[in-house]
Amino acid sequence: MDRRELLMGLAVGTVVPFVAGCTAHNEALGRSQLMLVSDAQIAQLSQQTWQQSLQQERVTRDASKRNQVNRVGQRIAQSSGMTQHDWEFVVFDNDQVNAWVLPNGKVAVYSGLLDVAGNDDQLAAVIGHEAGHVAGRHAQERASQQMAAGVGAGLAAVALDQGGVSNAGMWAGVLGAGLTFGVLLPYSRRHEYEADRLGTDYMARANYRPTEALTFWNGMMARSGGSGGPPAFLSTHPSDAQRMQALQSHITSSGYA
Ligand SMILES: [Zn+2]
Repeated sequence: MDRRELLMGLAVGTVVPFVAGCTAHNEALGRSQLMLVSDAQIAQLSQQTWQQSLQQERVTRDASKRNQVNRVGQRIAQSSGMTQHDWEFVVFDNDQVNAWVLPNGKVAVYSGLLDVAGNDDQLAAVIGHEAGHVAGRHAQERASQQMAAGVGAGLAAVALDQGGVSNAGMWAGVLGAGLTFGVLLPYSRRHEYEADRLGTDYMARANYRPTEALTFWNGMMARSGGSGGPPAFLSTHPSDAQRMQALQSHITSSGYA
């Protein structure tokens, strides 16, 4: 073992016990997840991201669109049982077929998506799925995974270079990026399955038709062959035939259809 291998081993050995002590059980998912960010940090970063988005995008003046999203959104928020969040729903006047959620219950729906979602049930599928990502604490989990990877790489770099890396800067960078991921970068396949399952449960409890989730996602996938490329919503929520099969079987086994 040369010096480099020894130092890498030390760096990895230092990270593992630290990471192992930071898991949290998520009741909605029935599994434990890596959680390296505090609720206070997430709340603050979510609020910052929300304010930024409200400045960058134009909120629609179309009252019927605003009312539709608010009506459906509040019903889903209630059926999800996540009363700890101050849920807010806005419609951005933007042709993109997109929607996203922040961990503090702030939801953005783009008017382009409303043109595609054919009815309240399909909109409930979108918002239910997004609420599923909140319950799953998926953005926090992803940020934590990024931080763990960054800490591992960072410590290795420190060990190899004998210092010179600013840890505080690295942590802030990874944490900030982790939040951006919640809006801009794809969720994992596992996160998609979990959000589908929770989302259709919320739909059913709110008396929407969970089968419309299948209609919506299949429609989304059909659009990805178009000239404009896949809808933005699909690029952050990757979908394929396998995922649709899992969604279908959850709907069937839950007695929703
Ligand atoms: Zn998703």
